[in-house]
Amino acid sequence: MTTANVTTTTRKSAAGYDVAPLAAAERDRLAARLTPEERRVLLDHGTERPFCGTLLDNHLDGTYICRLCSLPLFKSGAKFDSGTGWPSFFAPFDPAHVREIRDASYGMIRTEIRCARCDSHLGHVFPDGPPPTGNRYCMNSVALEFVPEGQLAPEA
Ligand SMILES: [Zn+2]
Repeated sequence: MTTANVTTTTRKSAAGYDVAPLAAAERDRLAARLTPEERRVLLDHGTERPFCGTLLDNHLDGTYICRLCSLPLFKSGAKFDSGTGWPSFFAPFDPAHVREIRDASYGMIRTEIRCARCDSHLGHVFPDGPPPTGNRYCMNSVALEFVPEGQLAPEA
């Protein structure tokens, strides 16, 4: 458990979203509505089984937002079929919306991806993705929620 930099000031990303860390009480309030499987992945750093996520074969235009705090994380235009069984993207919605953390669990050195605002575990990023970035953000479907094009709520 990392202690986030607690602050009450807003911190805007280039995309115009507040990415200041959520207060613990707010995070707990949002976490109360998660399903057990969502809690296991988002809060306990679990991984869903491949090819069972509901968003893997979603090819609609829209935005993938954080299941816990609703911060936009990926756009459909950056989604690609990696063949891994998990929804994969070559770039985040805004680089400031995700946090990269070195993960040495399971005997591997990987880079964990967390939501920049609520610190939830989302998945991992690997340097074997397609152009233009060469990155592969390998995400858990349960960590994301899909919002069809035109229905993304504006930042309050
Ligand atoms: Zn979040």
